[in-house]
Amino acid sequence: MNSVPFEMGPIRPVDEADSLLIRTTRGCPWNRCTFCTLYDDMKFSLRSVSEIKKDILAAKEYFKGHPFETCFLQDGDSFVMRTKDLIEILETLRKAFPSLKRISSYGRAQTMVKKTPSAMKEIFNAGLNKLYCGMESGSVQVLESVRKGITPESIIKSACMAREAGMDTTQFIILGLGGKKLSKLHAIETAKVLNEINPDYIRLLTIGVKPGSGLDRQMAKKEFSLPSEAQIIAEQRLLLEHLEGITSHYANHHSVDLLLEIRGQLPGDKNRLLAILDRFLSLSDVDQINFVLGRRLGYYRQLSDMKNDIQYRAVEKQTRKIRQTDPDSFEEIFHNLRIQVI
Ligand code: SF4
Repeated sequence: MNSVPFEMGPIRPVDEADSLLIRTTRGCPWNRCTFCTLYDDMKFSLRSVSEIKKDILAAKEYFKGHPFETCFLQDGDSFVMRTKDLIEILETLRKAFPSLKRISSYGRAQTMVKKTPSAMKEIFNAGLNKLYCGMESGSVQVLESVRKGITPESIIKSACMAREAGMDTTQFIILGLGGKKLSKLHAIETAKVLNEINPDYIRLLTIGVKPGSGLDRQMAKKEFSLPSEAQIIAEQRLLLEHLEGITSHYANHHSVDLLLEIRGQLPGDKNRLLAILDRFLSLSDVDQINFVLGRRLGYYRQLSDMKNDIQYRAVEKQTRKIRQTDPDSFEEIFHNLRIQVI
């Protein structure tokens, strides 16, 4: 039950923590990705313009002149709205909250390619100036295997159209989504697509297979095999190595990511970021396990925290206990800790 007098959806991007949230759609119009359980119990619906406008006015009344600078349109894809309806909502929002500098939304590639470049420009001019896209991978095989319902072509076309219209774009990538089998392909093909788009922001997320998801069932049938933490870092290294000629801001920014210090501006910071990944990969097996467990349990925030002898020994005590009971269970434990934060 909402404690505010207007409707709110279940999620927002990490970067929208301080934003006004206005719900334009309920759920996801696709809702078939095998790794996603977000809207499992929710039937997709478009909210009517009058309903959304009522919410905007209720939010205005509720927040009483709060100078919001950012607003995020929930839930999964505001571009399914008719262009003229979306523009009406954006205009109402800007009138009700004149301090807004940024209005953002998720956008599905397959929906956005149905808009014309001039419609995208009109939407941008009406105020929607930031777009979050979950491309997840640039590999056809990976996209098909997780039933993402988008193609590298639609990802590139929609992202380029949004950028040309003037929108800031963020692309989310899920590390490990191709499993062990498609890991290399996932890294290299994703880099290729990102090189074509040159998004403003690239955000990496590390895979966590939610119980009850399609991917979980595939894993149980041994059709999908989860890469280890070190393999996921090696995958990321390959991806980053293949990013060429782009100027995106690149970051691991979700607590599910192992190396939160991977954050920088391309191309200038590329070598520095590769060096951090290499630092992890060159650790001994014992230290890799110590770092991953320490990071996942909250002892460490970054690699250099391992130098703190007290923390290192505290984590070592935990790893010793696991080795004594089940030395083969580390990766399972790491994965379980990951899914607790997504
Ligand atoms: S990942 Fe995105 S597109 Fe896929 S089902 Fe979830 S919300 Fe929908």
